[in-house]
Amino acid sequence: MSNGDHVRVRAYGDLDVFIGERELTAPFGSPRSVKDLLEALGIPHTELGVIVVDGRPVGFDHLLTGGERIAAYPPFHELPIPPQQTVVPPPIAPRFVLDVHLGTLTRRLRLLGFDCLYRTDTDDAELARISVEDARILLTRDRHLLMRRKVVHGYCPRSSDPDEQALEVLRRFRLGGRIDPLTRCVPCNGRLHRVDKGDVVDELPPRTREHVEEVARCDACGQLFWPGSHLEAIDIFLSRAGRVR
Ligand SMILES: [Zn+2]
Repeated sequence: MSNGDHVRVRAYGDLDVFIGERELTAPFGSPRSVKDLLEALGIPHTELGVIVVDGRPVGFDHLLTGGERIAAYPPFHELPIPPQQTVVPPPIAPRFVLDVHLGTLTRRLRLLGFDCLYRTDTDDAELARISVEDARILLTRDRHLLMRRKVVHGYCPRSSDPDEQALEVLRRFRLGGRIDPLTRCVPCNGRLHRVDKGDVVDELPPRTREHVEEVARCDACGQLFWPGSHLEAIDIFLSRAGRVR
């Protein structure tokens, strides 16, 4: 095998989950961009933070000609890297669109106060379109959906557990300080607004009437919420989320 017949790729952080190993030698044919090559190996571009080719940080369009050594890193928060040396797009507001398999994650993120669009009748093309046109971060475990060219902001939750997935999203987009529970309707994504307990006392369950001081109503569907209007397991989740920085 001559030098130009292959490239060597090393995956840092947890990017090995996408290619199955930390380091590999990949056969190389005709020239292609480094983004194309890494996606062909299984790493969606949304998961990349820094790409280094032969010791030099490059952009997605950097053309490979064979024989290169490529290092792929996830987005870093810890290291002060100049933005022009990363492939991370400028951040957008933490609003999300989720695919049909992430219904429970949707509910967790709404519980934390985040705006999450979720519909069960949306196909991949529509999800990608909404993500771009509505400036929402696309959350999906379908890496081929994240590889769609137009998708800019996205994330593939690694865990299959919804609580862990929500914590991953908080860490990845640095949202620990932006959690605002009891501001977003979990079933419908509407905004909640505080209401006077006295005005809604007839709508509250008898035991709740005595114990609850804060009550909020959804602008969109009218449902009432109060602290503890969910399962104990959710309280445990909320306290874990509150510790993410
Ligand atoms: Zn609602």
